[in-house]
Amino acid sequence: MRVILSLFLLLAVATIPLQGCSSSKEMSAASASACEMCAKGKAGESVWCDGCEAGYVDSAKVSCASCYAGKTGNDTWCEGCNAGYVNAEKVACKGCYTAQTTGTACTSCEG
Ligand SMILES: [Zn+2]
Ligand SMILES: [Zn+2]
Ligand SMILES: [Zn+2]
Repeated sequence: MRVILSLFLLLAVATIPLQGCSSSKEMSAASASACEMCAKGKAGESVWCDGCEAGYVDSAKVSCASCYAGKTGNDTWCEGCNAGYVNAEKVACKGCYTAQTTGTACTSCEG
């Protein structure tokens, strides 16, 4: 009988910190989704959230402001990501990006 009692106590002690952990996880998830701007983005709107320094395009997170601008239709070359966007289409080569925005040919990809 004493063994069963101590087992029960052991189980009770072991489950308390687990419960505390899971409830704190839920709390942090709730505070993350408390951002209205990001919630709109996750719902499918194209938004940039200054508070979280993150954007959303088609429910996909974009953590770079320049790339967010590019993906939303602003012709942009992003030095940080080494990628550009023309008409919301990704361009991997800076020469091609310049070529497409100025109407010239890319000197690096010639041929
Ligand atoms: Zn946000
Ligand atoms: Zn970028
Ligand atoms: Zn090129």
